[in-house]
Amino acid sequence: MMFICAIGMESCTHRVYKNQITAQALSEAGIRKAKPKNIILMIGDGMGLTQITAGMYENNNHLEIERCPVVGIHKPYAANNLITDSAAGATAFASGVKTNNGYLGLDANGNKHPSLLEYAENLQMSTGLVVTSTIVHATPAAFFAYQTDRDAYEDIAIDMLNVDIEFVVGGGKKYFDRRLKDSLDLVASLREKGYFVSDYFEQDYNNWTIPEVKKLVYFSADGDPLPVSNGRTYLPKATQDAMQFLQQKNTNGFFLMVEGSQIDWGGHANDSRYIISEMLDFNSAIGKVLDFAEKDQNTLVVITADHETGGYAINSGKKFGELVTSFSTTKHSADLIPVFAMGPGSEQFSGIYENTEIYHKLKKLIGR
Ligand SMILES: [Zn+2]
Repeated sequence: MMFICAIGMESCTHRVYKNQITAQALSEAGIRKAKPKNIILMIGDGMGLTQITAGMYENNNHLEIERCPVVGIHKPYAANNLITDSAAGATAFASGVKTNNGYLGLDANGNKHPSLLEYAENLQMSTGLVVTSTIVHATPAAFFAYQTDRDAYEDIAIDMLNVDIEFVVGGGKKYFDRRLKDSLDLVASLREKGYFVSDYFEQDYNNWTIPEVKKLVYFSADGDPLPVSNGRTYLPKATQDAMQFLQQKNTNGFFLMVEGSQIDWGGHANDSRYIISEMLDFNSAIGKVLDFAEKDQNTLVVITADHETGGYAINSGKKFGELVTSFSTTKHSADLIPVFAMGPGSEQFSGIYENTEIYHKLKKLIGR
């Protein structure tokens, strides 16, 4: 009996050992062979598998995301809660640490962990952020701010001046130039730092030809940008512009984060139409990014979400294009989250792993 057990254990150990060697060798070979020049991280806030399913079934059973050859799953929980918020979720991607809900760029003990965007800047890459929330909202903020309170928007705006991001599109102008806690004019400060600054009031984004400047900030709203259903259209064009702008600026490659921010807001509102219209807008941006990556052949695209919102479900009784849906909460859920990838290094993103691994995998692939 003992003999059989020992044999079994030995052969089992041997099998695991062999598999580890093979996986490690493959992974090292993969990294050596396939290091991308550019990295594009796309985050659908609150975009769980049901949000993706609903977008797909309401769009003739097709989404651009299906073009990604690699699919994985991450575990989105926070340090202090099984259910993460966007601050802890984005900090996991940006800085590689599980932290408390509400924290940005800090671990659960409050220690600062510089973001991937700052890492890319230090490697002389160009960087960009394009979002449909305010630019000081939790997800984009995790890439440049270090705060214990995600709602400290005016402090987060100050943090944005400390990082040299070349291309920024998002809402929240009032946190820069009509501040409540002080009389600083951060739009003027941005201009002093060499930024070209414009906004929705001066310039309709969709009719805008991006000027020949070194770096730019475009404020798409004073506070939160409109939902797609109320006329917001800039995300696909801003995503396209960001890729072109950053590529032209720099031969060292770029790091771009694009967020479909309001899929989450549709989930909080338990509004299926809101979720689907935001999903399809994000889908258009994904299409632009995958077109760019396919043509460029040197760009890694990773598409995921920070968490699911709404406990969203598709129920029986209807068919494609006529979904019957329901929700179990107006908050976030604890669901595992899909990850989609295309381009050099994309094979690193298959399997099941912690959300913080997205940071570690990207950092290894960015490393020059
Ligand atoms: Zn949310």
